[in-house]
Order: sequence, then structure tokens, then C-alpha cells
Amino acid sequence: MARYAYVNGRYIPHGDAAVHIEDRGYQFADGVYEVVTVLNGRLVDEEGHMKRLERSLKELRIAMPTSAQIISMIARELVAKNGLRNGLVYMQVTRGVAPRNHAFPKDVKPALVMTTKRIAFEGQKKFTQGVPVITVADIRWRRRDIKTTSLLPNCLAKQAAEEAGAYEAWLVEDGCVTEGSSSNAWIITKDNVLVTRAPAHEILNGITRQTILKLAAEEGVTFEERPFTVEEAYNAKEAFVSSATSFVTPVVSIDGRPVGNGGVGTVASKLLEAYQDYAAGRRGQAA
Ligand code: PMP
Repeated sequence: MARYAYVNGRYIPHGDAAVHIEDRGYQFADGVYEVVTVLNGRLVDEEGHMKRLERSLKELRIAMPTSAQIISMIARELVAKNGLRNGLVYMQVTRGVAPRNHAFPKDVKPALVMTTKRIAFEGQKKFTQGVPVITVADIRWRRRDIKTTSLLPNCLAKQAAEEAGAYEAWLVEDGCVTEGSSSNAWIITKDNVLVTRAPAHEILNGITRQTILKLAAEEGVTFEERPFTVEEAYNAKEAFVSSATSFVTPVVSIDGRPVGNGGVGTVASKLLEAYQDYAAGRRGQAA
């Protein structure tokens, strides 16, 4: 089956899809994006992702390229055209095409691009065996709450993780973990309290993060939204990362030190199961 991309109003074979060289996304990373998981043909937490897309655009004073409803329709059409059952939809909006100049161009139309990617989520080892993470300095700008395509510090951090044989890099600022290079960071203390950073300018408020907090409440897991230090993470009973494609991925070591007993923890397992049920539509919408 041919794989299509959506580019500014047209569905184009993926290999032929292209944007203009003066797209401000290409020249300035002047754009935002969303990644929506597709599980059994369903778009997981679609509404949350669309709301965050609107918010990111508003913060950067980029207009919506079209209504949220139509963007959702395009996403569904692309999923159908590409016969996608499991994977993700990537959506990107940039300020548009204009002669290169840092200040915003006048009367420019935002550009909308969408692609899909196939992923076999079922039976992935990361869920059952857990993953290592390392810590690196958080060198990003101060508006990490905006899901911008400007991801160079995140790429450098992820590359450092990969070179260290780790799945993710946890970013550290003022002695505390902010989040991962492409995920939110969580620990469970020895007193069984689930801890993750509160949403503010320092982190991206993950859609998966928000769902996990609702599921944790339903499962009777006590949680606190606050910063935690690297030292606290080293001494945690359990840890995990969350994102649209990582779901709840247990962390079994941090900087080479085993977390808890070095295996997948019970709270992480419980939350992963709850999340998988929720994402697959087997469990009602988290309240
Ligand atoms: N933080 C960062 C820096 C990310 O890139 C992501 C994934 N896009 C997340 C957190 C998790 O967000 P979500 O759960 O919405 O995928």
C-alpha cells in the first residue's frame, strides 16, 4: 500500500512530499508539532493533542492553518489512506513560507504537514524489561511548555543517551530533573509516592502525563507534582518515562545505578497496564 503524506491541502506519495526552501520551519524552526499515537486504528487522546497544538500556536502567535476539526479529519483520512492500525500521526505547523527575515512576515499562510509511521507496540521489550536512562544538563530555552520543532538540545541529549547505551536522557537543571529529551520523567519514592514535575514553563505538559495522573488517581496511587533531585531519583524505588509512543516505560537504571532492585517496579507495571487498557479503548475515558 502506498504511503502518503499530507502537505498543505494535498495527499502526496511520501517519497515525493516536499516543502519550500524558505519555509520558516526549515530556516528558523519556527513551528510546532504534535505526535498522536494510533492504536488499533484509534487516535489516542486526540482532543488533548489538538488542544495543545492550538495552545503552542497561540503562544508563538502563529494562526491555526485550519480548524481543529478539519485537522482531525485530515489525520483520520491519512490514517485510512495509509492503512495504519498501529503507529503514530505526526502533525507539524510552521509560520509559513517567506523571504528570510527574523521578524514575522506579514500575510503569510501557516503551513500544515502530516505524516504517519507504523509502530508495532505489542510485546515491545522496553515495557517488560525496562530501560536505562542517563542524566545530562538541560541546556534548552525557557519555554519548554511550547511543543516547538526547535529540538536541537533534545537531539544532542538523545544522541548522548544512545551513545551511552541508554533509552533516554533525563535533563537536569539546578540539581533537579526537568524531563526526558522526548518524554516526561517520573519516580516512585520509597514511601510509594509517585512524583513528577508540575506543568510550568520548564517542561512540556505531556498529554500522556496528564492521562497517567488521572489513571493514578483512579488506581489509588498517591502522587505529588513537584521537582525531584537527581539524588532522589538515584534513591527511588521505581522510575519511568512517559510519552505518546513510550506509554509508561519502566526505568531500571539511572547513570548506571540500578533503580530499586533493578527490575520493573509494581507501580510502573500497574500504570502501564492501566494506560494500555485506556489507550486501546478497553477502559473508559479517564475522568
Ligand atoms: N517532554 C518532551 C520534551 C517531549 O518531547 C515529549 C514527547 N513529545 C513529552 C514530554 C511527552 O509528551 P506526550 O505525552 O504528549 O507525548
